[in-house]
Amino acid sequence: MRSVEVLVVGAGASGMMAAIAAARGGCRVLALEKKERPGKKLLATGNGRCNYTNEHQEPACYRSQNPERAWEIIRSFDEDRTVAWFREIGILPGSRQGYLYPASFQAASLLHALEREMDRLGVALHREESVQGIERRRNFKGTWEKGYVVVTDRGKYLAEQVIVSTGGMASPAHGSTGDGYRFLEQFSLDMVPAYPALCSMVTEKSMAERWAGNRVQGKVSLLADGKLLAGDQGEIQLVSRGISGIPVFQVSRYAACALGEKRRVTLCLDSMPDWDQGQLLAELNRRIRWNGSQSAGDLLEGMLPDRFSSVLIRQSGLSPSARAEEISEDALERLAGKMKNLAMDILGVSGFEKAQTTAGGISLEEINPRTMELLKAPGIYVTGELLDVDGICGGYNLQWAWTTGYLAGNGAAGQVGKK
Ligand SMILES: Cc1cc2nc3c(=O)[nH]c(=O)nc-3n(C[C@H](O)[C@H](O)[C@H](O)COP(=O)(O)OP(=O)(O)OC[C@H]3O[C@@H](n4cnc5c(N)ncnc54)[C@H](O)[C@@H]3O)c2cc1C
Repeated sequence: MRSVEVLVVGAGASGMMAAIAAARGGCRVLALEKKERPGKKLLATGNGRCNYTNEHQEPACYRSQNPERAWEIIRSFDEDRTVAWFREIGILPGSRQGYLYPASFQAASLLHALEREMDRLGVALHREESVQGIERRRNFKGTWEKGYVVVTDRGKYLAEQVIVSTGGMASPAHGSTGDGYRFLEQFSLDMVPAYPALCSMVTEKSMAERWAGNRVQGKVSLLADGKLLAGDQGEIQLVSRGISGIPVFQVSRYAACALGEKRRVTLCLDSMPDWDQGQLLAELNRRIRWNGSQSAGDLLEGMLPDRFSSVLIRQSGLSPSARAEEISEDALERLAGKMKNLAMDILGVSGFEKAQTTAGGISLEEINPRTMELLKAPGIYVTGELLDVDGICGGYNLQWAWTTGYLAGNGAAGQVGKK
């Protein structure tokens, strides 16, 4: 059985960072990646441009059952240190309103820089080798010994320190299929239920089919059993299965959790956030006075896109072909009300296949926040999306991956050779 000082399971964002940090700490490092190449997901990030961190940081950017601890961890290797770290390996930052990308705006350049650095430091990388399990070591007397046996589909390794960086369950096509949760089950860790996050939501079919293809600048509020959970504002995409766009992504993790708890989830869309209802009613009346013979459908033209308008008109109990001057004041008020607040039942979220990250995971109570080492299994470290932290859109999930990878790599290197 081949022995290594530090074995990294999964060469995604956090795993590559961990491998580099451990190798810089002077260790012999082996990284095992089940896909044909490391960092496949990185290539897809930021629409191929890789939004690797953000100049704006605050605790609310990181969601967790233990947000204070998540923030404490982030602060120990923050965005400034991350930018400096990437600069050193050749990646200059390019900012778009504080969202940071490699200055080339190509995710591949950041991935290649990580690969070159692993190579320069002599990190051994095995591609297409899938880890099946991690076992504690016993000596011939039956007592536990330091280190772990890592079992793969090709063989076994004896590792002094093991860093588990297998990702969560989001976007399994990129290799993250929840394997790490299974390896670590044996340690009876406290797990926060895992749900898809940063994803679109499914609404009633009849509504979605009518509006598909339109976009609105709006504000969303998410409620569970009538209680407000979260809100956001920006460009909303109306799609054939429901509703999407960054504001919807930002609140989706709350929808997924609430649906998992069998609560009734409603999304309220304010499609005219800069107007109040009285102003909208006055504007609709002015349009009718200007041209009473136009149709109800024409009335909203120039304010909102056509297909979405037809949904609002139907939801107000009107026919799109009704003559504007024949619409009652009550119906007009209902229409202005729907423009401000279109409530829709959320029937589901788009699932792990389409999600960008995983909410929930291994509780932060289970780790040493300075090294990411499991308190119940010394010598095993956990990074990235496996942990109970999900960032909002904007580079925060990768920041979490870099920070935890860096801490775990250093933590593991600090323990190599100790009794
Ligand atoms: C389409 C898309 C776009 C995104 N865009 C952004 C963005 O712009 N900014 C941002 O901050 N975040 C973004 N994210 C989220 C971000 O990419 C992830 O949160 C981050 O990559 C998680 O890092 P990780 O190291 O935990 O896991 P991953 O990067 O998922 O890496 C896990 C690795 O482990 C390997 N692995 C799994 N199981 C095994 C096993 N048994 N044996 C060996 N190897 C294994 C996998 O193949 C994979 O390579 C995006 C995600 C997606 C899907």
